[in-house]
Amino acid sequence: MTSGVTGQKLAVLGGPKAITGEHADLFGWPIVTAEDEQAVLEVLRAGSMSGDDVTRKFEAEYAAYQGCEFTLSFCNGTAALMAAMYGCGVRRGDEIIAPSLTYWATALPVFALGATVVFAEIEADSVCLDPKDIEHRITPRTKTIVPVHYCGHPADMDPIMTIARKHGLKVIEDVSHAHGALYKGRMVGSIGDASAMSMMSGKSFATGEAGMLCTNDRVIYERALALGHYERTDADLTLPELTPFKGLPLGGYKHRVNQTCSAMGRVQLRHYPERMKAIQDGMNYFWDGLEGVPGLHAHRPPKGSGSTMGGWYNPLSHYRPEELGGLPIDKFIQAVNAEGGHSWRAANHPLHLHPVFNDADIYGDGKPTRIAFSDRDLRQGKGTLPVSEGLSDRCLGIPWFKRCVPKEIDEYIAAYKKVALQASALK
Ligand SMILES: *Cc1c(COP(=O)(O)O)cnc(C)c1O
Repeated sequence: MTSGVTGQKLAVLGGPKAITGEHADLFGWPIVTAEDEQAVLEVLRAGSMSGDDVTRKFEAEYAAYQGCEFTLSFCNGTAALMAAMYGCGVRRGDEIIAPSLTYWATALPVFALGATVVFAEIEADSVCLDPKDIEHRITPRTKTIVPVHYCGHPADMDPIMTIARKHGLKVIEDVSHAHGALYKGRMVGSIGDASAMSMMSGKSFATGEAGMLCTNDRVIYERALALGHYERTDADLTLPELTPFKGLPLGGYKHRVNQTCSAMGRVQLRHYPERMKAIQDGMNYFWDGLEGVPGLHAHRPPKGSGSTMGGWYNPLSHYRPEELGGLPIDKFIQAVNAEGGHSWRAANHPLHLHPVFNDADIYGDGKPTRIAFSDRDLRQGKGTLPVSEGLSDRCLGIPWFKRCVPKEIDEYIAAYKKVALQASALK
């Protein structure tokens, strides 16, 4: 059936589109129903947006889902990451190790703690932190490693944890792209010492604007709470080094989440496993249909590995121009979008090349913040992380199917196949 479509003239060259119709039903996210509306209305009508009764229920339910002892909600994922770093003992002059190819919040909040970041390389296949590039970057100042489960793909946690234990470092998983994903059968976010994640509207687990920290370590939990949850210090702090400061937030931050988001989070969580499965079915169907097509390779763990892609946030395809006669990614994007596809350059710009990480003196220290409290110039220029720098030309955004409707997804398979098989017509 698809062979007919894939043999037609490319739409970008004046042929018919492979995808007819909008298929908006395949993509709408988050899924908001009367149940969410009712839950949010209840908070509004009770005037309890700034309370914590609904939030504590959400935290308990998320802890059960995640399988961890302590959860702490935040106004966003960025705040959760900063608090996780503080919780893990990151202080002035310390270093964290993180990937450069990620959203900025994985690393940038470390500056507010007077600490800095050393970027490590990623693996070209998983697009996650490369365990082989970590150890030589560890110094006496290193406190934590922050792997990101990038675009839903679990990072290779076993070797990362081995390195961390050997050197006495903490690990914070950034789960913002991978709620519910499995690494060798275990939930991501429950493998490191702590995990932090975004739950903003665009993520696969979406509650509006919120973040969550998960840990089994009471010290991490209480320190994270002391930083920006002043209203909970009386009830929740027990550590002798923190209790004298009850009542005020140590960081001078206010990290409380709006309870309308917690209410929506509770509803979303009840449906998440089933909705995540629909996403996985749809995405796997798409990839199974593209098996063997040149130039495009699935970003997903091997079948049978026990690892999964969670809600498959911001899904990407590996793009291999060498299998398409050297066709540049932008030409592929233009052609497949002309067919009705959804593609763009999917990889973040590497953080290590951004001026904020190289030049900005954010707090007036008389030198760039990145090195303000360092004993050496640890900035990393162009060419220092070649895999991270090269992936922008090799990661193609693909449609994020929220439902598995084979008849409709077939049209997308045909569109991507059509362009890949006729790449030579685009030279
Ligand atoms: C979205 C995101 C964050 C930040 O979360 P916010 O809720 O937007 O503050 C952190 N890390 C990664 C990898 C993200 O994609």
